[in-house]
Amino acid sequence: MLNKKLWISILLRSRPHFLSTLFPKQKLSRVFSCSYHISEPRVYIRFEDHFIGNFGFPKKNFCSQVSTLSVSKCWNCNAVALSKPFLACESCRCVQPVDPSVDYFQIFGLKKIYGIDDTNLESKYKNWQKKLHPDLVHSKSEKEKEYAAEQSARVIDAYRTLQKPLLRAMYLLQMEGIHVDEEKTVSEPELLAEMMEFREAVEEAGSPQTLKQIQGQVQEKMEVWSKYFENAFKNRKFDDAISSTQRMTYYHRINEEIIKKL
Ligand SMILES: [Zn+2]
Repeated sequence: MLNKKLWISILLRSRPHFLSTLFPKQKLSRVFSCSYHISEPRVYIRFEDHFIGNFGFPKKNFCSQVSTLSVSKCWNCNAVALSKPFLACESCRCVQPVDPSVDYFQIFGLKKIYGIDDTNLESKYKNWQKKLHPDLVHSKSEKEKEYAAEQSARVIDAYRTLQKPLLRAMYLLQMEGIHVDEEKTVSEPELLAEMMEFREAVEEAGSPQTLKQIQGQVQEKMEVWSKYFENAFKNRKFDDAISSTQRMTYYHRINEEIIKKL
């Protein structure tokens, strides 16, 4: 796997004409990384954070098939995909089929990090929905309507996931192949006592003001563990990242109880 990645990288550096014919405007000397997905034989080539293109390869006999490089094209007008994610065609505006290799961060042009710090997430989401919403393609073919429904649902999922710290944390772990068991209880007596206190306080709260006050305390705790997760994940200390996610789950649930009562 690693060898293949390296090999493609060397190939692209040594034979830039493969790309220069397809993407004459790109500075190919700056191509520095590419990735190969074994589940879907396609190579994604990027430099810095910019996507250049993706190329399909037949799975068998990978090396000898390089001359058959193919580019993602619009299913409707055949235009070459010049940007990633290729959710809708730049030329004919036709909605494209879902590409599962495009992750939620890529949908919004974000780096794959926890602290996305992007205040434009909502506007980016709305822009996608303007292009992909199934209602907007009501006059189009059944095929495109289907693509629009799938793409739109995926963008909604992506937005909801990245918007919420806990879901974003879990998604990042999932991308690393780590599944967090939300039901797994944390057995630290200190945390359990704190949870009991919060729950009692929420039950006994007699006014929205009191509830908001408790909510503020819960959010403070959430932020502390959120930071903890961010550092752990950045340093690839996945055990610590998992345990902070489990703590965040507790605070998330209390916050939901508060919202129900407000
Ligand atoms: Zn097109």
